[in-house]
Amino acid sequence: MKSLSSGPRLLLKHLHDIMAGKGDAEARLNGVVHLIANNMVAEVCSVYFLRGGEVLELFATQGLKASAVHKTRLRVGEGLVGQVAAQASPLNLADAQSHPKYVYRPETGEEIYHSFLGVPIIRAGRVVGVLVVQNETLRNYTDEEIEALQTVAMVVAELVGNGELFDPLESPEGTLERAATPRFEGTTFAEGLAIGLAVLHEPRVFVEHHLADNIGVELERLTTALQDLRQQIDQMMAADDLRHQGEHREILTVYKMFAEDKGWREKISDAIATGLTAEAAVEKVQWENRTRMLKTADPYLRERLSDLDDLSNRLLRHLTGRLQTAASANLPENTILVARSMGPAELLDYDRTKLKGVILQDGSPVAHVAIIARALGIPMIGKVEGALQSAEDGEKVIVDGDEGIVYLSPPPEVLFTYHESIGARAEQLAKYQALRDQPAVTKDGVEIDLFINAGLSIDMEGLDQTGAKGVGLFRTEFQFMVSSTLPKIEEQVAFYKSVLAAAGDKPVVFRTLDVGGDKQVAFLQEEDEPNPAMGWRAIRIALDRPALLRYQLRALYQASAGRELQVMFPMISDVAEFKAVREIVYKEKARLEGLGKEAPTDIKVGTMLEVPALIWQLDSLLPLVDFVSIGSNDLMQFFFACDRENPKLVDRYDPLSPSALSMLKFIVDKCDAHHTPVTLCGELGSKAVAAMAVIGVGMRRLSVTPASVGPVKMMIRSLNLNELQQFVNQSLSRTDKSLRGSFVAFAHDHGVKI
Ligand code: PEP
Ligand code: MG
Repeated sequence: MKSLSSGPRLLLKHLHDIMAGKGDAEARLNGVVHLIANNMVAEVCSVYFLRGGEVLELFATQGLKASAVHKTRLRVGEGLVGQVAAQASPLNLADAQSHPKYVYRPETGEEIYHSFLGVPIIRAGRVVGVLVVQNETLRNYTDEEIEALQTVAMVVAELVGNGELFDPLESPEGTLERAATPRFEGTTFAEGLAIGLAVLHEPRVFVEHHLADNIGVELERLTTALQDLRQQIDQMMAADDLRHQGEHREILTVYKMFAEDKGWREKISDAIATGLTAEAAVEKVQWENRTRMLKTADPYLRERLSDLDDLSNRLLRHLTGRLQTAASANLPENTILVARSMGPAELLDYDRTKLKGVILQDGSPVAHVAIIARALGIPMIGKVEGALQSAEDGEKVIVDGDEGIVYLSPPPEVLFTYHESIGARAEQLAKYQALRDQPAVTKDGVEIDLFINAGLSIDMEGLDQTGAKGVGLFRTEFQFMVSSTLPKIEEQVAFYKSVLAAAGDKPVVFRTLDVGGDKQVAFLQEEDEPNPAMGWRAIRIALDRPALLRYQLRALYQASAGRELQVMFPMISDVAEFKAVREIVYKEKARLEGLGKEAPTDIKVGTMLEVPALIWQLDSLLPLVDFVSIGSNDLMQFFFACDRENPKLVDRYDPLSPSALSMLKFIVDKCDAHHTPVTLCGELGSKAVAAMAVIGVGMRRLSVTPASVGPVKMMIRSLNLNELQQFVNQSLSRTDKSLRGSFVAFAHDHGVKI
């Protein structure tokens, strides 16, 4: 009898005949095990398939007792067969019975067989079964035999995919059932909770046909697909789209390296030459790479594994012509998108009514896609290592965007807990909603003006939904950040007009560009700075490159023609800077008047207060400004000399400390004395307890994220300001590191809803 190694092509041809032959799937499977046993001169050949995600069931055998079929079952990890599935790699043993994992199953009659070769049956990167050959004699299977059996196993996987043997997603609820719930920890990019069904942004390709009809045709298909793939990578690298900067660019470089690798191409071509289709050959080579890379101790190579998986999937998508993302597919009502990374435009392609959550393997919370997710109110968790590899299309997922946790196929008790939390949230949201038209007035009759922070058109919806008084901070840089080129003046005008139209008669405070530092824009690529937050950013760039500011002011004037314009400047450090910038405002206004164009009815010029130095010039500054807006994010990082992006320092200093609150009180008192309106627009005001504290030191205007308007208003309406002020007056001279605990206690003691 001929050994497998002598003719994989011939074996594949015979396999082809059996697979394409008559009879049901089970009969064909029996044909397959006979063929393999004969070819490998093995007394036994058996196929086990994974059912319900955790049990390997004997489906066909040549050599074991026929009565064991559908009876012998092993859990993943149990026995040698379970071991092959758990490790997703071949097991080659001359004396199987001496292996510690060996378990004896009397119904099979396998006690007489000594040697064992098991290989996993893989479909789209997942173990779906195990293919085994056994011999009576103590025999060592050769590498060629192992490889040939692996190839056969791939073909056998076809029988699982088409559902003829059993439903691959069988479980009581029709979704995948797993032995244990995979739980992943990531970073919260956008808060919130969601339960839904996983949808892979870039769908995984399931290879349907493994056996080639014409090897020449398959080789040509590979050549074309590789060309397309390389072209696609080049295009992605050439695109100035910001999502391809930084970390993502590194990945693309690795892709390019692999895509141009001759060794990779040769291996795939060799696999095709044995009789596989191009798709099957790509899958086979990827599977071999995977097995090899998983064994390596080199952490760099192991990290690259998901890159290679991704690249192979891309090549498969080129081969099958399935290039579209899932955005164009029929989405479930509660879609949880799973992606390696994506750009803001790609996210916006999805039907927002169906999108309930997003999981990204890479990414950063300051990435634009994260900004969009927050604007859309969709929970997003990033930096979730491994979720993309593990998630199956259609399986149930929990996205806990508060804790940064993802569960795949959660058990009922976990689901129950999350359903309860979501229910409680919805109830709470309804309560906030009910406050929409109620004023933010304390119990003792003091009104606090609540505004929202915005930066995208989508944010403007928050104005109507929350009933806020206006936009206290419009971050104009977002439009510049999501664009690859400097937005033209007409584009800026159109954008500002749309913002003002969305605001109706409510005021909008535009902040001029705060770019540079960590807010990079494509058209202003400067070399890396050691301290970007304290670097060449915001007004510093504007004063060095006044044309940028002038054009932006022109756009703002045009957009505000016939109504009041409120504009302010980021990162002003001293009065001279404010004067310099105000000069530009006046010059541009004069230019507009000279041209006889319609101007805004009034221009109110304000400043952000983000740099502590400015506090010591308030007496000279305040007579010059129409309003002040405190950017607590930056102000606190400079006040405490504490990088706001450094996770090691997150809890080191608290803005609710006596020192920081005394500073805020000093600013408010000065502004009050000069009758200058002052708003707090940093994130500080967005949490109810902190909002209470700043109201306690005299702040009467807060600009917060739209989702915070409800909770902050609820707090205000339950607050007796007089009692709070007495408490604050006694507290500011204390030497505690933070007064947060005392504020929480005050709220509890006085029935303030925080
Ligand atoms: C701030 O610093 O508080 C602020 C509002 O500006 P940004 O967060 O955009 O730096
Ligand atoms: Mg700032």
